[in-house]
Amino acid sequence: MHAMVLEKLRAPLVWTGLDDPIPGAGEIRVRVSACGVCRTDLHVVDGELSGPLLPIIPGHEIVGRIDKLGPGVRGLNLGERVGIPWLGHTCGVCDYCTGARENLCDHPLFTGFTRNGGYATAAVADSNYAFPLGEKGSDVSMAPLLCAGLIGWRALKIAGQGRNIGLYGFGAAAHIVAQVARWQQKSVFAFTRAGDESTQAFARSLGAVWAGPSEQKPPQRWPTTSFGSTGAA
Ligand SMILES: [Zn+2]
Ligand SMILES: [Zn+2]
Repeated sequence: MHAMVLEKLRAPLVWTGLDDPIPGAGEIRVRVSACGVCRTDLHVVDGELSGPLLPIIPGHEIVGRIDKLGPGVRGLNLGERVGIPWLGHTCGVCDYCTGARENLCDHPLFTGFTRNGGYATAAVADSNYAFPLGEKGSDVSMAPLLCAGLIGWRALKIAGQGRNIGLYGFGAAAHIVAQVARWQQKSVFAFTRAGDESTQAFARSLGAVWAGPSEQKPPQRWPTTSFGSTGAA
């Protein structure tokens, strides 16, 4: 396979030929067809997150098709299209894992950070952390849903039935949430950094009924039930 490898922090990725990875017990191998670029990937490359495995293949918005199953994989099939996100593995035994909050696991592995990610022609993933994607939607359009979309959707669900949705910061997650919220016939209020008029215009172009600086109050009474944070992974 080929991969873009981060050999040392704050250095360009290096196009590298590698042996095809072999999936271990409970793992799958996918032929990668698309992989998004998340802000967190840039933080990794820039050395702004402590503890990356080096060398590492970044990328955690992976779409691909399974071409090899490791021993003991259940529920996924050869040829199936799957998505692989940032959370790549959890321990299964810590208080968070056993309390259904595995996203806070004490001993996690993160795709493209502490296990190899998707800037490659092939990637191996824990089958418990690979989502069947079905066949609707292009690979490229699905890829950002694996991080930005996933985070945004979680925040939108927590916002409940509120009809007015305020989005603080209008980056990757919010620009997806805004479109989903509009589809749900909710009203989107987008808060950006003061003076960031291009992002405000972008928010309006995606259907926000109002966009302005976060210091400013929106032109309606602020609802109490429709608050969503889109802090990124
Ligand atoms: Zn755990
Ligand atoms: Zn991400």
